[in-house]
Amino acid sequence: MVAGSGIRGHLLVTLSVFFLTVLLLAVEIGAFQEASQRYYGGKQLQEQISNRGDLVVSMRKVAVIGAGAGGSSTAYYLQKFAANKSFDVSITVYEKNSYVGGRSTTVNVYNNPDEVVELGASIFVEVNENLYNATKEFGLECSDNYISRRVSKDALGVYDGQSFIFRQPYDTTWWNNLAILWKYGLTPIRTQQLMKQTIRKFLQLYRAPLFPFRSLTEAAEKADLLQATAHTGEQFLNSNGVGGKYATDLVQASTRVNYAQNLGIIHGLETMVCMATDNAMSVKGGNWKIFSGMLAASNAKVRLNTAVTELHKSPSDGRWIVYSTQGASHQGHEDSEGTPTFQSEVFDVVVLASPFQFSDIEIHPEPEKTPDIIPYVQLHVTLFTSPLRLSPDYFHLPADQEVPDMVLTTLNATEQQNEKITRGGGVHGVGSSGFFSVSLLRSIKREVSGVHKIEYLYKIFSPAEMTHSHIKEFLGVKKGNVEDVDDAVVTWSHKKVWHSYPYLYPRVTFEEIILDKEQTLFYTSGIESFISTMETSSLMGINVAQLVVDSWESKEKASKKAQDEMWAKAKL
Ligand SMILES: Cc1cc2nc3c(=O)[nH]c(=O)nc-3n(C[C@H](O)[C@H](O)[C@H](O)COP(=O)(O)OP(=O)(O)OC[C@H]3O[C@@H](n4cnc5c(N)ncnc54)[C@H](O)[C@@H]3O)c2cc1C
Repeated sequence: MVAGSGIRGHLLVTLSVFFLTVLLLAVEIGAFQEASQRYYGGKQLQEQISNRGDLVVSMRKVAVIGAGAGGSSTAYYLQKFAANKSFDVSITVYEKNSYVGGRSTTVNVYNNPDEVVELGASIFVEVNENLYNATKEFGLECSDNYISRRVSKDALGVYDGQSFIFRQPYDTTWWNNLAILWKYGLTPIRTQQLMKQTIRKFLQLYRAPLFPFRSLTEAAEKADLLQATAHTGEQFLNSNGVGGKYATDLVQASTRVNYAQNLGIIHGLETMVCMATDNAMSVKGGNWKIFSGMLAASNAKVRLNTAVTELHKSPSDGRWIVYSTQGASHQGHEDSEGTPTFQSEVFDVVVLASPFQFSDIEIHPEPEKTPDIIPYVQLHVTLFTSPLRLSPDYFHLPADQEVPDMVLTTLNATEQQNEKITRGGGVHGVGSSGFFSVSLLRSIKREVSGVHKIEYLYKIFSPAEMTHSHIKEFLGVKKGNVEDVDDAVVTWSHKKVWHSYPYLYPRVTFEEIILDKEQTLFYTSGIESFISTMETSSLMGINVAQLVVDSWESKEKASKKAQDEMWAKAKL
């Protein structure tokens, strides 16, 4: 009797707790749905929520935000890894631009689709295994970066704002060039060895036991790379006995053209990446073709012109409602017309594959880990064509000397003594040259009114806008010259200001990859303050894809174990 009333009492308490929980949950879901409905009249959303039980079991839904190197790689590898483990996955890639590729994108010279030129990321190297393997898998043709250039006899020169301190003829590499060895001794070869040693350490991130890595900080530490990231390029090179003139003349020219940063800012690891240029290549027609190939192979639904605006985590089941706006006027979609349409869809996992600070996304509730805001380089890219060659006079050369096809820049001896410049960003760090590089990319045969003309395609990287009159100075056109007619000097041009890459200040910790404790929100772009390249974004994509599948596996194992235990108890 006493025992019976005890059980009844216990049952009563249990039932009331159960009903209270259900009631609270209902109120919570109700409030949540109401909020969602208020927002976007979420009929579709309600259906998805009521179907959620079926969806979780049968099909895992993943939203990837961003169709650049990081997002496309996530989708591509996720599809592969999920298939290997027999998980059904449905991937949706949201991209606010009207094109795939993000910072890997091309424009058409003279609006001619047969004359494309990279506006963003232009080269990768053979050790970039994700990109390189993808070009093979998708049958993409790659070209040596210099192949169509060869207008001048020198491939490259380094200009310090006063004179060329270095020139490199075609068919030599700058570290095995006799003139270089004469000038800098064995430092170039030692720097090359240091670079290879550092890259070998980095490549460990692709393989077990380091791969997949849940924390980039830990992986970098285990790969013994924190020494390189903790110091500026200048400190890193000095401490390895390869500093001095070679570093400031040539290595710095490379960090400036690749990252718009002097050795006094950029960390040692990214400095080494700048020196790993052997077998540089790009995909004919545009590097974005790699990412478009990856998306096609992933069977993902790709929603172009669609900006994700908010992510809401459902309090009831922990799934994500992704709110997006399609057809608004975004970058690359300036021509879009009509009213934007709002959409929402529910996903099990969300992968943020874009620098969070530029993505304009609100996350509710705020995740356990929110990526920090970090300074990015503002890089001005100027593309133009002209029948004229770069002026020797502009570079203080005698009139009979050619300007090298690619002009890199560095600081001169006086500037190199000034910390405000060596550690300055943008216009404060560029020095008297005023630009980071100007390259003659190729000559183009152009037909104008039935007449064939040769013109040259140029690209300038600078920290401030390149004005038309500055471009004319590059070409040696003085006011009042016969050529001083705009259309005759610059026959086509295109300008773009990028948030190109972060300032790679020395650091020993990196952004988290898994942003919530339930392992449903992932972030790829934290790798950019470690190394910012197409390949490293792709590495983070493959890494996140593996982490997602691993988390599904362990959740499935845990729920199977719980089920088995329940059955075992029931049998008893
Ligand atoms: C001028 C320039 C030259 C470079 N040169 C090289 C080079 O030679 N080699 C090299 O390897 N790297 C180079 N880089 C760096 C390289 O481009 C980047 O490191 C890499 O492309 C980054 O890829 P990602 O996918 O991480 O980011 P991104 O390419 O930026 O892709 C992120 C995508 O997310 C989208 N997005 C953002 N927010 C939202 C949202 N709310 N909703 C939907 N979509 C959203 C963006 O539109 C974008 O397409 C260069 C970069 C620039 C700008």
